[in-house]
Amino acid sequence: SRTLRIGLIPGDGIGREVIPAGRRILEALPKSLGLSFSFVDLEAGFETFQKTGAALPEKTVDTLKQECDGALFGAVSSPTTPTKGYSSPIVALRKRLDLYANVRPVKSVKNTTMFPDPIDLVIVRENTEDLYVKEEKTYDTENGKVAEAIKRISERASSRIATMAGDIALRRQRVRDSTGQTGKSANVTITHKSNVLSQTDGLFRLTAREALAQSQFKGVNVDEQIVDSMVYKLFRQPETYDVIVAPNLYGDILSDGAAALVGSLGLVPSANVGEGFAIGEPCHGSAPDIQGQNIANPIATLRSVALMLEFLNEEKAAALIYKAVDANLEEGKFLSPDMGGQAKTTEVVEDILRRM
Ligand code: NAD
Ligand code: MN
Repeated sequence: SRTLRIGLIPGDGIGREVIPAGRRILEALPKSLGLSFSFVDLEAGFETFQKTGAALPEKTVDTLKQECDGALFGAVSSPTTPTKGYSSPIVALRKRLDLYANVRPVKSVKNTTMFPDPIDLVIVRENTEDLYVKEEKTYDTENGKVAEAIKRISERASSRIATMAGDIALRRQRVRDSTGQTGKSANVTITHKSNVLSQTDGLFRLTAREALAQSQFKGVNVDEQIVDSMVYKLFRQPETYDVIVAPNLYGDILSDGAAALVGSLGLVPSANVGEGFAIGEPCHGSAPDIQGQNIANPIATLRSVALMLEFLNEEKAAALIYKAVDANLEEGKFLSPDMGGQAKTTEVVEDILRRM
């Protein structure tokens, strides 16, 4: 049997309503899995900043590093006006823990999208470089100001993100095989714009190709697509994709777009992943417009719990959660208001727990 220690970082707003749901579903997993959990409550976010002067206290980082196997992060509010000393704690956490991949599965459930064919894809976004190194400068010229930004692409980061995409494609194939789903085969699509950016995106493309040509990936089909035509096809034929790997900026844009394909922001999970550590995090923010009313959709968080478990090699436990969530959505009796229902957060959670 295995005990996993999980850091719980609710953050602000509805983070405090959905993270307790994440804890409850972990506690409700059947004993027969041989898996148990211990939890440690950790602080981060805007309220923490107002209270302590730090949005990400060192204690939170140290505890995650020293004690935890994984973590759940809710959401944080960012001040609407720039506030001295404040910067996003999740961005800092990704850096401090070297969580180099942002993984976002996008999956439709019957009756919840306008697309006839099931959508089941995952976007694997590089999380450390590209234009997000934020090395910008502005200078004056005869014709006014000019601003420039560095787009940095490295072999190391491109290779490890492509390797992770390949691993995810293999794992998804294993799950499909073990649950008797046929029809789709393991595929990774490399996203780039190397027709224009031959050096930066060219390096990403070539390095990803090489990484995915390794023998462990021989069962994975690899193709590639220029990012703009990818957006077109993603919106026309989302059912054709399996795993998409992309540099930071394209991955950011593609993943918000893809989330729109499946109904509600309240459904879409993510995980920040590094070597041997994963933080599950719903894609939505702190939703101040609905906080404190017990009406936030908990499903993005519950799916983020499952995603975290997958990266901690607990696929069986993850599959149980996914299945219970899908059953709740398919039946449609206990849906939160964002899904057109009237159920409270806690009622959605209880319905899903009953199905476990
Ligand atoms: P948001 O995701 O918080 O909300 C957008 C809309 O979706 C709102 O109408 C909200 O009510 C709804 N919504 C979001 N999650 C929902 C859920 N689980 N169930 C039902 N409805 C849900 O985005 P925003 O309004 O642009 O930002 C609000 C705050 O969150 C800001 O301070 C922003 O900086 C922050 N934010 C944080 C993160 C993060 O922590 N990763 C991400 C995005 C935004
Ligand atoms: Mn984004």
